[in-house]
Amino acid sequence: MAKWVYLFTEGDAGMRNLLGGKGANLAEMTNIGLPVPQGFTITTEACTQYYEDGREINEEIQGQINEYIVKMEEITGKKFGDTENPLLVSVRSGARASMPGMMDTILNLGLNETVVDVLAQKSGNARWAWDCYRRFIQMYSDVVMEVGKKYFEKLIDEMKEKKGVKLDVELDADDLKELANQFKAEYKEKIGADFPDDPKEQLMGAIKAVFRSWDNPRANVYRRDNDIPYSWGTAVNVQSMAFGNMGDDCGTGVAFTRDPATGAKGLFGEFLTNAQGEDVVAGVRTPMHISEMEEKFPEAFKQFKEVCETLEKHYRDMQDMEFTVEHGKLFMLQTRNGKRTAKAALKIACDLVDEGMRTPEEAVAMIEPRNLDALLHPTFDAAALKAATPIAKALGAAPGAACGKIVFTAEDAESWAARGEKVVLVRLETSPEDITGMKVSQGILTVRGGMTSHAAVVARGMGACCVSGCGDIIMDEANKRFTLAGKEYHEGDVISFDGSTGCIYDGAIPTVDAKIAGDFDRIMGWADEYRTMKVRTNADTPTDAKKARELGAEGIGLCRTEHMFFEGDRIDAFREMICSDTVEEREEALSKILPLQQGDFEQLYEAMEGEPVTIRFLDPPLHEFVPTEEEDIKKLAEAKGKTVADIKAIIDSLHEFNPMLGHRGCRLAVTYPEIAKMQTAAVIRAAINVSKKHPDWKIVPEIMIPLVGDIKELKYVKNIVVETADAEIKAAGVEMEYEVGTMIEVPRAALTADKIAEEAEFFCFGTNDLTQMTYGFSRDDSSKFMDAYFDAKIIENDPFARLDQSGVGQLMKMAIEKGKKVRPTLHCGICGEHGGDPSSVEFCNEIGLDYVSCSPFRVPIARLAAAQAAL
Ligand code: ADP
Ligand code: MG
Ligand code: MG
Repeated sequence: MAKWVYLFTEGDAGMRNLLGGKGANLAEMTNIGLPVPQGFTITTEACTQYYEDGREINEEIQGQINEYIVKMEEITGKKFGDTENPLLVSVRSGARASMPGMMDTILNLGLNETVVDVLAQKSGNARWAWDCYRRFIQMYSDVVMEVGKKYFEKLIDEMKEKKGVKLDVELDADDLKELANQFKAEYKEKIGADFPDDPKEQLMGAIKAVFRSWDNPRANVYRRDNDIPYSWGTAVNVQSMAFGNMGDDCGTGVAFTRDPATGAKGLFGEFLTNAQGEDVVAGVRTPMHISEMEEKFPEAFKQFKEVCETLEKHYRDMQDMEFTVEHGKLFMLQTRNGKRTAKAALKIACDLVDEGMRTPEEAVAMIEPRNLDALLHPTFDAAALKAATPIAKALGAAPGAACGKIVFTAEDAESWAARGEKVVLVRLETSPEDITGMKVSQGILTVRGGMTSHAAVVARGMGACCVSGCGDIIMDEANKRFTLAGKEYHEGDVISFDGSTGCIYDGAIPTVDAKIAGDFDRIMGWADEYRTMKVRTNADTPTDAKKARELGAEGIGLCRTEHMFFEGDRIDAFREMICSDTVEEREEALSKILPLQQGDFEQLYEAMEGEPVTIRFLDPPLHEFVPTEEEDIKKLAEAKGKTVADIKAIIDSLHEFNPMLGHRGCRLAVTYPEIAKMQTAAVIRAAINVSKKHPDWKIVPEIMIPLVGDIKELKYVKNIVVETADAEIKAAGVEMEYEVGTMIEVPRAALTADKIAEEAEFFCFGTNDLTQMTYGFSRDDSSKFMDAYFDAKIIENDPFARLDQSGVGQLMKMAIEKGKKVRPTLHCGICGEHGGDPSSVEFCNEIGLDYVSCSPFRVPIARLAAAQAAL
């Protein structure tokens, strides 16, 4: 019989996959002798089983749970539903990877009116007993029966108003009892049955609810963003309660061993007296700084500091802990490697190396590559910032510079961002439902909440800027407006705020680009030592190329030349070329573009300082270049000496039903060899010129033919290229090597890669098109049905963002093997979106690519991911 349940004393930190992160660490803390309320963990496998059994907990698992309840009763000396010494527990989710706030927790389970009376009498603290009960009813109704919190919150607000108090701690035992009864009535009305009194029934309901919460919408979104597979499942922890809400000698807190925003060493956190569970993070009252805890609870604080040290040494990483003080006694409820900003991650990794706790290899492995993104985004222009006067100052909860138009709801943030607006989300406080809106915002500003509030934690996790706890804002969410520093702000007004200092500014403050220095530079230096794969960039303009070079690019893997056709009046010449009747006419039009394109290429070679530059020939369908405005059509007609009707007829003739599979890529070079000739001449002339200027650079132009599916296509175009290139080189009277290669982006090219390699000197996997054609998903239309695919769990990750390793990846692997067999010197790279996606980079390393190529700002991410793949 499988074992589905483990006591905390039976597990350890190594059992994370089975017990989830929370369960494994509760077991580990128990093992190293820390004060942990005891209990048991139901495994992640039981969760998977629950789904396999059609969302039921089968008898075998139920049997083991019942057995472990008895064991737990023996260990704690308390019993479920007992009239002498009743056992109360929390039921907590805990997946392998931490998903803060995404799934559900229920506290104080085991209560009913009889038990409440027993607790009230024994403790002489009726207020506490009723506080526990009303919390339990509220959480159970919300989590297990999905009644929704807001009804209960409304009842609490009404009660506070009736009593003329502001805070929930000011409600007394009778008030709380009345609330509990109102809650139960609310429950009965919504559910049509009485609130369950039997603790075991409550427990099974709660366990099921936690399993079910693995599949809730916000958890699904979070998993997709964080690459956590659905198949992992969550464990459930059943733990006896420690009470932080028994009076003023009690409390609850969260703390980090280092500052999660900056990485600075030292205790960082918040504490709230006479409180329970989420009170600290939910922002119901503003908590005190952890250091103030020392005065109120000297003994517990001293012990807590020791625990922090023990845990940091033990895990050799910054810890994020939850704890509760019950009548002055400390209980540890959770520890995990703390989430941190990218800046903090770099500092902590470097500090741990300097403190002798970690090796440089381990430091490189500790950094989440995708988080570097946050450091590569702009910060405020220092001069402009200095000149600006803040209108308010609150907590700098997650660093970054935010500047945008104010919106008041997550939905508005999403719809405004979808139409290209830069928005900042201003909220009273955020809740997990807001996560999608937070993601698309430049920054998040909240009225309530501390450094560990939901907004702060989530923002830090996703590298977004957040300022929280701005109590000066007089908020009117219902009417989408607020007042700050005497000014009324409405939806659409622009503000700026600084996630490091917490300063808020009226209007827009210009931002500047980030650069790699300090800890960042140190980590990247180590990463470069360990990685074996090269990192190039996709750059079409000299500006992009320079930026990428600064960020460490070792060449250009893809230059999309079509973007250059739109600049200045080149588009006019190109349109003239499209509307020409003879080859001569076309050549004449193209000859106007040649010197301009050559100039672009020279700048790219300059920017790359002798590193390889791959130039891809014109790829998109011609109809993308023709004019749509009446005025432009007229202008073109005049230039060509044709009638407007003639031009319109040409434009119409270029219409395609399926342009992605139409007249594009190498097919353009087959029908219009003049274009390939012009581009070849531009590349070779540019390379010769720059070589003359920099004799120490060995420039070997790489010319890349797109959308090849058949060796004969490639051969045909290659002949044109070679003929032109050789003539150019001869005419210049110089020596120059060059390479002609191809994109592998049509499945047929991958399937016949051994043939293709006879002509191609390099392969570059265009995984955007390769994914489109392998899956048969249109790049431009798939978003319309992708959500339904996510919901139905047909697809877990967007294959255009994360490489489909088992399909597209297999084609790549096969193409490399076939190609290298025929041409051992063949070099291979990737230049699709996937080149900057960490998990895809790892796969590229595995299948033996020589380089990945990605957008400039993802170059450092790819460098780090490549190092991790090599370690
Ligand atoms: P999350 O994963 O969302 O943080 P948790 O399971 O950690 O959820 O629990 C939510 C809150 O309840 C935390 O503040 C935690 O410290 C508190 N809590 C959980 N179990 C207990 C317990 N046995 N005694 C006291 N507080 C608890
Ligand atoms: Mg927690
Ligand atoms: Mg392509």
